[in-house]
Amino acid sequence: MLSASYLHIFSAALFILSLKWMGEVKTSRYGNWSAILGMITAIVATYLAFPFDHVPLMFAAAIIGSLIGIPIAMNVPMTAVPQQTAISHAFGSLSVALLGVAEYYQRVPHVDPFTMAVLSSEIILGFLTFMGSCIAFAKLQELIPGRPFVYKGSNVVSLSVLGVAAALAADLVLHPERQILIFAIIALALVFGFLLVMSIGGADMPTVIAILNSFAGISGAGLGFVLNSKILVVAGTLDGASGLILAIIMSKAMNRSFVNVLFGGFGAVSSNGNGVNSNRPQRTVKSYLPEDVASLLDGARLVVVVPGYGMAVAQAQHAVKELSAILESRGCKVRYAIHPVAGRMPGHMNVLLAEVQIPYSSLLEMDEVNPLFPEADMTIVVGANDVVNPAARTQTDSPLYGMPILDADKSRSVVFIKRSMNPGFAGVDNELFYLPQTMMVFGDAKKVITDITSAVKKN
Ligand code: NDP
Repeated sequence: MLSASYLHIFSAALFILSLKWMGEVKTSRYGNWSAILGMITAIVATYLAFPFDHVPLMFAAAIIGSLIGIPIAMNVPMTAVPQQTAISHAFGSLSVALLGVAEYYQRVPHVDPFTMAVLSSEIILGFLTFMGSCIAFAKLQELIPGRPFVYKGSNVVSLSVLGVAAALAADLVLHPERQILIFAIIALALVFGFLLVMSIGGADMPTVIAILNSFAGISGAGLGFVLNSKILVVAGTLDGASGLILAIIMSKAMNRSFVNVLFGGFGAVSSNGNGVNSNRPQRTVKSYLPEDVASLLDGARLVVVVPGYGMAVAQAQHAVKELSAILESRGCKVRYAIHPVAGRMPGHMNVLLAEVQIPYSSLLEMDEVNPLFPEADMTIVVGANDVVNPAARTQTDSPLYGMPILDADKSRSVVFIKRSMNPGFAGVDNELFYLPQTMMVFGDAKKVITDITSAVKKN
């Protein structure tokens, strides 16, 4: 139908604009609205393109989906967004995979080799993404242990499973009537998805989710070719490309290769469980009170705040904003150092700080803020850890080695707010705890920052 085609073009343009706008913090809200409008337009166009007798069933499906999806989206805490994304991908890819299987059964035995090749590839990608995303969800939700399940030759076993699935798919392309093969392919894709994600540590799950996102997109685009749905091809390709680009950016920011994330078993080898290398002599740290920090802040001219995952856990962003406001009212400049992989998802810190209306101009990326640290009177590390670990520069045996970090150790004094001596995501001890200019303030980030603010007000 002509009107449906125009609407599809319009929604494709909105999707493209959405990705462009989401690339900048300032325009990201437009990006979100553009994506929502694009999706509504795509759904309306799809309804228009179908014979009217299908519509009641499609409406029923949309209502059931919305009744389940809306409460989940409204209630999910910010820290649980990665696992929510994983489970959404699981359902998205399952639906694409099942549609592929349905399409096969509608066409068999007259499936031309091109269609069969596309269908079997998208079925493999769809089912492996479904299973992989379920495992990623279970790891992030701590339903199963997050550590990688690796053994000697585990990568060979996983890749062999994928190889057999690909060989069977090739056979199906030549003999589409061999219906039994489709079940074997589905089973092998599920097993490969399971083995692949089980062998990856919980720490790498956000990157894995981006990769799975990409697989789901490619699988959707493949189905679009078979169904001759241009909007599915466009949306699937955008999804596939953006997921891949995001995974590459994340791997780069962690100084890891893509292959290392997927097959490196990162996190399998750890030190003594506390993240502290047992071969090193026990060292002591200096513990301070919020009042000590407040007195040092008296007369400070530049303070850099380094937010990290702990700020998200403690929901300390409001308290941080209040402290900044009082410091700024006393003539102190406050800047926020944003590391690309701080937190547990891309843009995590930007979202939290935007929520409390901290101006974008105060948020500085790594290359802008690093030259500021030597001039800073104080750096306040709020629940961050790995992103300021100087071991990344010098310790070749550290899993963080090579990761670009924020140069917090170069500032005159460092206040480190966390609850214990536990390590961060990478599971390694932090050299910064032991430096002479570091003051450890133990406690929940929200409480400590609130106490510092009260003490600053009293001074
Ligand atoms: P880290 O995970 O290194 O450290 C977080 C720190 O927060 C911990 O040391 C923890 O210490 C502390 N913390 C937790 N809860 C609280 C609380 N309530 N109050 C105060 N402190 C708290 O975080 P970073 O942000 O520095 O680094 C992110 C890590 O995640 C990097 O290793 C990165 O590679 C990885 N990663 C990030 C992704 C992303 O997209 N952002 C994706 C994949 C991985 P304690 O328990 O003692 O309080």
